Amino acid sequence: MSNPKDNLLDWLRDAHAMEEQAEQMLTRLAGRIQNYPELKARIERHIEETRRQAGVVRQCIKRCGGDTSTLKDAAGKVMAFAQGISGVFAEDEIVKGTLASYTFEHMEIASYRILIAAAQECGDRQTATDCELILKEEIAMADWLEQNMPAITQRFLQRKLADVEAKH
Ligand code: MG
Ligand code: FE
Repeated sequence: MSNPKDNLLDWLRDAHAMEEQAEQMLTRLAGRIQNYPELKARIERHIEETRRQAGVVRQCIKRCGGDTSTLKDAAGKVMAFAQGISGVFAEDEIVKGTLASYTFEHMEIASYRILIAAAQECGDRQTATDCELILKEEIAMADWLEQNMPAITQRFLQRKLADVEAKH
């Protein structure tokens, strides 16, 4: 791989796998939430954003001359740990799920920052612009979680203290 564009293409494929993983994780999480309507609504909004992002990344891959028919193979090699955290339906799953989502958003933020730099280095302005728009959505999601995490945590603890049956 002596061509920087090969690395860019490779990282776009990783990003696509990451978005597919994100959609799976968020869908599973949203389906489990019963008592935190704001969190559920925000996650559902981000699921829509995530689907669109995957499509944008696919377009970037095509524009870079990559084959999008084999993309499914890459899915699943990213972020087994997030799946591990959010897949366990523990008593405190609402807190664990929030933690996993916040962590995942930050991996996405890092990935798109790297892609933007790589695209600029390759002179691929369209990919850089596309990734900048995606980056904004990831930052907005991370910010929302950051602002709402304390209230979610406290609500969970209060519900537990009140011995409410369903805590998620
Ligand atoms: Mg994303
Ligand atoms: Fe995201």
